[in-house]
Amino acid sequence: MEHRPAREFDFELPVGYMDDDGRVHRLATLRKMTGHEEALLADRKLRHNGGMLVTELLASCLRQLVSSADRNYLLLQLRKITFGNELETTYVCPVCGETSHALQDLDELPVRNVNGGGPPKIAVELEDGWEDKDGEIYTTMVFRLPIGTDEEKIASIIRDNPSRGMNALLARCMLALGDMPSHRREALGTKVIGDLTMGDRARIEKTFRREMPDVDLTQEIEYAHCGHSFQTSLDLTSFFSLQ
Ligand SMILES: [Zn+2]
Repeated sequence: MEHRPAREFDFELPVGYMDDDGRVHRLATLRKMTGHEEALLADRKLRHNGGMLVTELLASCLRQLVSSADRNYLLLQLRKITFGNELETTYVCPVCGETSHALQDLDELPVRNVNGGGPPKIAVELEDGWEDKDGEIYTTMVFRLPIGTDEEKIASIIRDNPSRGMNALLARCMLALGDMPSHRREALGTKVIGDLTMGDRARIEKTFRREMPDVDLTQEIEYAHCGHSFQTSLDLTSFFSLQ
């Protein structure tokens, strides 16, 4: 039998997606990028919209729909199966402005997975909290991760106003507000999220970013030439820059 190099690869997704029957699917199949995707990368319109470029790339190379929580992970795998594990990166030292190059082994990037034991929950401690009409202040919020159907439901709101879209998404995903009974919380809808101070809203966003199952792109870089070291984040768009 003739040897055929593999073009398609299966991956277990960090988050996965839930179908209409409530079953979670965590398997995704990616194929290597071809000339079709090279054309996407070269498309001037897409190059100015990183989010849309990623959507188009994944839509083209994936066998099935995935949750947006898995995008970074899939992008990383797509890069690896197409171009290999080594990525040459350029960093600019924020202290002295020197440029330095590094070779990154993409296999070494840690992936935060959903642990067994059901879907992950994200708990946030608020500083200002939410005050009800009796003056009681609630300072803890627990969220579940957004899934595909949440994102579809809020898509039109997000298009009109990203901030209101975020309120609607967080309200859908909120599982608890302190010890408030759930019927009261649900009746409040998006009001709770909209009433939060900007500081608390930033706290929620930061906690989501830190605890979402995903590829960890944060890196501790030490610059050989100047000895400065600091944390930086790998730029996903550099994964596919045309050589
Ligand atoms: Zn430096």
